[in-house]
Amino acid sequence: MITAVNLFFVFIVGACVGSFLCLCVCRIPSGKSILFPGSTCECGAAIPFWKNIPLLSWLLLRGKASCCGRKIPFRYFEMELMAAVMFVSVFATSASLAHFIIGSTFCSLLLVIAFIDIDTMEIYDAMSVGGMVAGIAVSLIFPQWYGERSIASSFVDCTIGICFGSALMLSIAALGKIILKREAVGFGDVKLMGMIGGFIGWRGCFVALFGGCFISTAIAIPPLLVMKIIRRGAFKIPREIPFAPFLVIGSIAHILFGNRFLEFFLIV
Ligand SMILES: [Zn+2]
Repeated sequence: MITAVNLFFVFIVGACVGSFLCLCVCRIPSGKSILFPGSTCECGAAIPFWKNIPLLSWLLLRGKASCCGRKIPFRYFEMELMAAVMFVSVFATSASLAHFIIGSTFCSLLLVIAFIDIDTMEIYDAMSVGGMVAGIAVSLIFPQWYGERSIASSFVDCTIGICFGSALMLSIAALGKIILKREAVGFGDVKLMGMIGGFIGWRGCFVALFGGCFISTAIAIPPLLVMKIIRRGAFKIPREIPFAPFLVIGSIAHILFGNRFLEFFLIV
């Protein structure tokens, strides 16, 4: 039920999850364990839990570690806030608790994938292919996620989503290669789109791709133009742009607004 108390509780849970997601983004690319040790400062000192309160600690410590005065990356605050807002949004638009748990878990995974792609230009199989397996598991346990009543139908929906998403991205990769004469879309993006299709179906793939590109362009173009004008010739738009964040923004929009988002594009 949506009450102010519930929303506040979900916000806090989201912020705590965001703190863990940020730890995942920092540790996974360097192959470190995401469970042990607990939070440590870059100087090696363990961070006690009362100095590790999501959002508040960063604000109270003004972004500086109390042990050594090192800067605490803004990334922590950013991801905690993003996850908190995301959890509240998914909660407010979910039909049931099970929908909320699946939706928020899927969105959390996407958030980690997007940030790792921004940092390293890589999408790890453990997350994309692992996400596909998770999608298949959801279709076998909770057909309602796919709006179906029988497990057979939801399994078919999920499988078609995976195949369609991968095929859609493969064709864009092929098209990009012909037009740009270089690799525009990596195979990591193909697997990621397969995983997204497995969770939000083949219609959702369109929303993730075109909706994501539309929103991202709308968000990214004004600051890029301002930079271009201020710095004139010195500023060059980067040649390689991580693609996962676009898909992730579109997928989360689809989770939140469902087919209404698709209808918006069909009308426009
Ligand atoms: Zn320190």
